[in-house]
Formats: sequence, structure tokens, C-alpha cells
Amino acid sequence: MKIFNTIAELQSELNSHRDEKIALKVGLVPTMGNLHKGHISLVNIARQHADIVVVSIFVNPTQFGVGEDFDSYPRTLDDDLAQLKTAGADIVFAPSVNEMYPTYPPNVQVLSGGMAQILCGKSRPTHFDGVGLVVGKLFNIVRPDVAIFGKKDYQQLAIIRQLNDELNFGIKIIGAEIVRADDGLALSSRNGYLTPDKRAIAPVINQTLQKIKADILTADFENYANIMQKYHNDLTNLGLTVDYLELYNDRLQAPTPDDKNLVVLTAVFVGKARLLDNLEITL
Ligand code: AMP
Repeated sequence: MKIFNTIAELQSELNSHRDEKIALKVGLVPTMGNLHKGHISLVNIARQHADIVVVSIFVNPTQFGVGEDFDSYPRTLDDDLAQLKTAGADIVFAPSVNEMYPTYPPNVQVLSGGMAQILCGKSRPTHFDGVGLVVGKLFNIVRPDVAIFGKKDYQQLAIIRQLNDELNFGIKIIGAEIVRADDGLALSSRNGYLTPDKRAIAPVINQTLQKIKADILTADFENYANIMQKYHNDLTNLGLTVDYLELYNDRLQAPTPDDKNLVVLTAVFVGKARLLDNLEITL
């Protein structure tokens, strides 16, 4: 496994592989590090689709808002590298902020329209602009054939598919299933912010999504709003702050009675941690 901190060295390595093999397939797994089994599942999928797997580790400042956890976000490079070596990644790209953004703040912006303004975009209004910018840059730097993103960040995955389509990157985007702890909590780097008592409460998020799914599967369309309100109240009554708990179709539009593929998405503050989860529902 090779590790590069600069774009020039990374591209020189990738070009040498491209010179050696015609139609070399490159896979990209973008991450912010502090890796867990969810990230490793993405690497495993990438290995099935590519000859060379590149994992980027970059805590991207442009996707953090003022007062968010950019400074305190966990940075655990040595442990990440050990996990990636075991997982069979070929190349790790771990650039500095200056390498990615020689001009800071960058002049160019990537806006994703209405898709970036719902759900997480309401409480983090500039978040997806930063995500679109860094992912667009990584796509141009690595020029992957395939890129893997987790469904844990369902809205992010939808925005990246849109970016790929509308800016004609031509990359195969694969959405990976959510990897969970045994008690159902979706694995996340931000779970590390949970105190033991908050960690004990956190599985209620996934349990609530499972109950909503069970109710929606047997309900009429007219009752969906009541179901959502009931479980929103239940979470609030447990003392949790619900940022959102919403039902959409799989294109992240308001559901209609004709939609068969739905998704319930939530962001909940559990102590200091703002945790995301979602569950797909096929009627
Ligand atoms: P992050 O390092 O949090 O930016 O995540 C990097 C990638 O890993 C994103 O595509 C996430 O959606 C994905 N990811 C994070 N947690 C999980 C999980 N529990 N299961 C599957 N994918 C995940």
C-alpha cells in the first residue's frame, strides 16, 4: 500500500499503472478518516469493481459550518492506515488542506440546488456545497472509473449522483449498505462523541426507524404524516432533540401515493453528537 500527500505524486503513480495496463479500472473511496467497519465495507466493494483502489483521507474544511466540529473531528491516521492495509487498499491519498485548497477560501463553488436545501441542508446550509466541491475535486484528481459512497449519508449519495450526472463525470457511483453495531446503531466517526449513557440510548434511533417502516408497510398513504408525527414525539419525549425525521421517495422528493420506494431519514442530537440514520421502505 502506498501513501501520498500530494496530487502530483498520486497522479504520477496512477499514470504509471495506466501506462502498464490498458483499461485499468480505478476505484475511489472518499473518507474523512477515523475509519470503522462501514468505511472498510466500501473498500471491499471497491476491490470487487477495480484493479486499483484509492482511499482518500481528508477532513474537508469547506463542508463544515462555523462552530461545527472541524477542529475536534477525530484524526487517527496511523490506525486508519493499518486498517486499510489489512483491507487491501492499494493507495491512500492523504493531502493537507493547503494541497487541496491552495487558495482558501476557494473562489469556485459547487451548488447542488434544491436537493442540498432539505434535510441536513436545512441545519447545515453550506455543508453540501463543500461536499460537492471536494468530491468534484477528488473525481478530477483521481479520475476513477467507480466511486463508492455509503447509504448512511443517503442525501449526500443522491447529491453526488446528481453531480456526477450533471457535470458529466461518467463515473459509476455505487451506494453501499449501512454497516451497523450489533444493537443497530449505524457506525459513525461521530459515535465517538457519545458518553457511555448516551451510547446506551442511541440505538433507539434505528429502533424508531424500524417501527416507522413496520407501520408504513401496513398503513394507507393518508396516515403517513400521523405516523411520522407520533414517532417524532416519541423521540422528543425521550429527551432527544430531533433535527429532522422525514419520509421521502428514493429520489428525495415528497412521496406521492404512486411511490413504491420510500426512505425514512433522520438526524438526532444525542448529547453532543448529531447522528444520522435512514431506512429504505419498499411497498
Ligand atoms: P466519512 O468519513 O464519515 O465522510 O464517510 C466516508 C464514507 O463512508 C461516506 O461515503 C459514508 O457514507 C460512508 N460511511 C460512513 N459510515 C458508514 C456506515 N456505517 N456504513 C456504510 N457506509 C458508511
